Amino acid sequence: MELACLDLEGVLIPEIWIGFAEKTGIDELKATTRDIPDYDELMKQRLAILDQHNLGLPDIQKVIATMAPLPGANDFVEWLKERFQLIILSDTFYEFSHPLMRQLDFPTLFCHRLVANESGAIVDYKLRQQDPKRQCVKAFHGLNFRVIAAGDSYNDTTMLSEADTGILFRAPDNVIAEFPQFPSVTSYDELRQEFCKASIRNLSL
Ligand SMILES: [Mg+2]
Repeated sequence: MELACLDLEGVLIPEIWIGFAEKTGIDELKATTRDIPDYDELMKQRLAILDQHNLGLPDIQKVIATMAPLPGANDFVEWLKERFQLIILSDTFYEFSHPLMRQLDFPTLFCHRLVANESGAIVDYKLRQQDPKRQCVKAFHGLNFRVIAAGDSYNDTTMLSEADTGILFRAPDNVIAEFPQFPSVTSYDELRQEFCKASIRNLSL
């Protein structure tokens, strides 16, 4: 049996924090791990900014609900689900991604969790585990699944290495250059072809 593991942001939906910053006009929320490499420091800063702007989880989810999956993402997910068991492995948070996952008809998602208080303010976040994407692929191998994985960024590369086949999708040039062992594609049509190629079954497009 073969599993398809997909990253979420940059593969099926836009980067949520950046989209949220654009929708709300709060530019400080555009900072990423490229600006603040320490993820804990970055998240604490994001939560402090949300607090300053009095944005609780319901407000945030309303804004995120106005965002949409990337063009072609829904058709790609439908195609993939007919041929593979699909699991999304993401470093986002369930509470953030929920309005976008609804638009993708809620495929299975393994990610992290935010902690909100009674009034909806986000007070903390909980990472499920360290290096979660790799740990998932390892666990799936332990369950005797073959794994074909696709992602767009550094935080996917351990997942791609651990998988039987890893594919880069719309990755930045530096990631493509640093990981030449992975095929690199930019359209969903090419991604379908890579999944067919990587499968040990005789799949058709
Ligand atoms: Mg991504």
